[in-house]
Amino acid sequence: MKIGFIGLGNMGAPMAANLARAGHDVSGFDTAGIHVDGVTSVSVVADASRGMDAVITMLPDGGVLEKVYAEILPLGEPGALFLDCSTVDIVSARSAHERAAEGGLLSVDAPVSGGIGGATAGTLTFMVGGSSEAFEKATPLLDIMGKRIVHCGDGGAGQAAKICNNMLLGISMIGTCEAFALGEKLGLDAGRLFEVMSTSSGSCWSVNTYCPVPGVGPESPADNGYLPGFAAELMLKDLRLSQSAAEQVDANTPMGHHATRLYKQFVDNGGLGRDFSAMLPVMAETKREQTDD
Ligand code: NAD
Repeated sequence: MKIGFIGLGNMGAPMAANLARAGHDVSGFDTAGIHVDGVTSVSVVADASRGMDAVITMLPDGGVLEKVYAEILPLGEPGALFLDCSTVDIVSARSAHERAAEGGLLSVDAPVSGGIGGATAGTLTFMVGGSSEAFEKATPLLDIMGKRIVHCGDGGAGQAAKICNNMLLGISMIGTCEAFALGEKLGLDAGRLFEVMSTSSGSCWSVNTYCPVPGVGPESPADNGYLPGFAAELMLKDLRLSQSAAEQVDANTPMGHHATRLYKQFVDNGGLGRDFSAMLPVMAETKREQTDD
């Protein structure tokens, strides 16, 4: 297939490289002029969209996506696939679908989970929203870049699933950090506590797979000075998306709200550029604030 790939950052570059390695003819564009091996670099966005069978975007947010789509959708041939893998707000995602449909184009929102490691290894999870026809056309490409692909529903459903998942992840990481920080103050050995929690009812991905304690559990960013991994500011971005979505549909998300506040405090006070699990040392040093009720 002739594929245009727009946004060759930390995630987009390895995803585009995997498509090229699988034999597709990939043209890449990034405003930062990034070159990816095996991908033809183009200097204007139109050259990564006109005449393409599929155009993939991996951009920072919904504002950028809407701006880029305003330029590239009019260049798409009827029936071409527009596949957005960025994490964006649901309003932008739905408006992207509407504008694509007006031009007779197929579109999916397909945000990812799995981070830079998953993008490089081609093992991402894709949460997909869009029509069955668009999903079927996207699947062979998603299969190259990922290992698990879930069709979550109509346009915007992929973004909805992504922010629900990441809201839970933010909450569970904070809970995990709290439990280990409390355990330490109660004199428990972190390795023993891991043995208990990872095999008991407290087990979850944040404990079992991504343990925030250095030297405990499988290797994670905690063992690498809390270099991301998944940066705290990206977690904050996703938590904020969850809160604006919750506001739109009047959903009560008290834990999501609190997690957003805690990650904002963390990012504002030294957490920027650190892994989101680096909440543990902060929590371990902080004195008790709340009063019981
Ligand atoms: P990044 O900042 O490394 O990459 C974004 C790229 O988009 C940059 O290279 C930037 O130059 C380019 N860009 C910005 N405006 C552009 C424009 N108008 N035209 C073309 N290119 C433009 O970010 P990333 O880590 O690759 O993340 C991309 C998306 O994936 C984000 O929506 C993020 O939330 C999501 N995501 C990231 C991770 C992760 O671990 N990094 C995990 C899951 C999802």
